[in-house]
Amino acid sequence: MTSIDQLCPNCGLCCDSTLFADVELRAGDDAKRLKKLGLTIEKKSPTKLAFAQPCACFDGKLCQIYQDRPKRCGLFACGLLKRVKCGEMTANAALKKISDAKKRAGEVRDLLRSLGQRDEQMALTHRYAEAMSAPIDMADEAGAEKRGELMLAVNDLMTRLQKDFLR
Ligand code: SF4
Ligand code: SF4
Repeated sequence: MTSIDQLCPNCGLCCDSTLFADVELRAGDDAKRLKKLGLTIEKKSPTKLAFAQPCACFDGKLCQIYQDRPKRCGLFACGLLKRVKCGEMTANAALKKISDAKKRAGEVRDLLRSLGQRDEQMALTHRYAEAMSAPIDMADEAGAEKRGELMLAVNDLMTRLQKDFLR
């Protein structure tokens, strides 16, 4: 039987840029130290610092700086974790939702690559915006079809993320 501890190591959607394009640092976070640990820290506004996603400290499965991770990471619990913790959902059902969302996110990434957007270091939403803002070649029917597929796939992914992970 699946336990709640198995969810995050099988997910990573809040670290790989599927859910967030960046994460703001909070009071008490030591930006210099986090930078030394490998995070890419950027100025988000004159008073706010954030680290970019996909997170440089995410190895595809686990956080490499777990004990030293930023405050926001330690406090974050997605909707699935909350529902499993309070008994509203089983860990098995949550794992299935994670697997479905990851599959959809993988399809979105495949479509982006096929449209020429191959920057895996860029956040998913930024990659999507860049791909969609490229000029449309009216002679390229296959390309136009792929853009349509991408729009549908992103719409479906965002709906899943909003419903299952962000509330
Ligand atoms: S999105 Fe939720 S289940 Fe997935 S890694 Fe983040 S906290 Fe864990
Ligand atoms: S610091 Fe760790 S927990 Fe935070 S986004 Fe990066 S990999 Fe995830």
